[in-house]
Amino acid sequence: MIELTGVHKSFGAVEVLRGIDLTARAGTVTVILGPSGSGKSTLLRCINHLEKVDRGTVRVDGELIGYRQAGDRLHELSERQILRQRAGIGFVFQNFNLFPHLTALQNVAEAQISALGRYKGVANEKAHELLGLVGLGDRAGAYPRQLSGGQQQRVAIARALALDPKLILFDEPTSALDPELVGEVLDVLHELARAGATMIVVTHEIGFAREAADTVVFMDSGRIVEQGPPHEVLDNPRHERTRAFLSKVL
Ligand code: ADP
Ligand code: MG
Repeated sequence: MIELTGVHKSFGAVEVLRGIDLTARAGTVTVILGPSGSGKSTLLRCINHLEKVDRGTVRVDGELIGYRQAGDRLHELSERQILRQRAGIGFVFQNFNLFPHLTALQNVAEAQISALGRYKGVANEKAHELLGLVGLGDRAGAYPRQLSGGQQQRVAIARALALDPKLILFDEPTSALDPELVGEVLDVLHELARAGATMIVVTHEIGFAREAADTVVFMDSGRIVEQGPPHEVLDNPRHERTRAFLSKVL
C-alpha cells in the first residue's frame, strides 16, 4: 500500500530525512517512534503533499505521490491531481485543526462537498454516521470550542474518515490532550485498526504501539534506525539509540 524508497528532504542546509525506506501493506498499522526533531512529522507530510521530497519516491497504492511517470521521466502533477491524491490520504494533526466556525457535523461534511463533490445531503448523512462511530452522535451541532480536546480529536478523525481514505496518517494524535482524554482517542484508533484501516501513527504511546502495531519503526536523526514487530523493537531493541529512547518514554 505504501512504499517509500530513498526519501531525502532538506530544509535549507539541514537534511531532515536522510534516506528513508519504508513499506506498509494494506490493512496494517505502522507506529513511528522517535525523539523530537527526528523527522517523523516531515515523513508523514511528504506522504500527504504537505512537503515535497527532494529525492526518492513515495508510492501509495502503486501511485507515485507528487509525480507522474512518463517513460522513466518524472513530471510534476497538476494541482488538481495533487488534490485528488491528497483526498485519498487522511491526516489527523496533533492540534485537531478543525474549522472553528463550523459545527462538528459541518467539519466532517465540508471536505466531502469541496473535495469529492458530494451532495450536501449525502455528506451530512455520512457525517452523522461517522460522528456516531467515534461516539459523538449527540454532539453534531457543537462548535469545536464547545468540545473537549478528546472530542475535537474524534471529530478530526471522523473528518479524515469521511473521504474514504486508502490510508490515514496520524501525527501525535494524543499529544495535545490532557492525560484523562488520551484513552478515548486511542480507543477510536484501536477500533479503526480492528476494522482493517491502513494507518501510520506517530505517537509516544508505547502501550498503543504494543497492542495495535503490526510494525514499529524507530527514527532518529532522519533515518530509520530499526523496525520490526512490536515485541522485537519494544522488548528487544537492538540499537543503543532505541534503548535509550524507550528508557525515557516507558
Ligand atoms: P519530529 O516530528 O520528529 O519532531 P520534524 O519532522 O517536525 O520532527 O522536524 C525535523 C527537523 O526539521 C527539525 O529540526 C525541524 O526543526 C526541522 N523542520 C521541520 N519543518 C521545517 C520547515 N518547514 N522549515 C525548516 N525546518 C523544518
Ligand atoms: Mg512531529
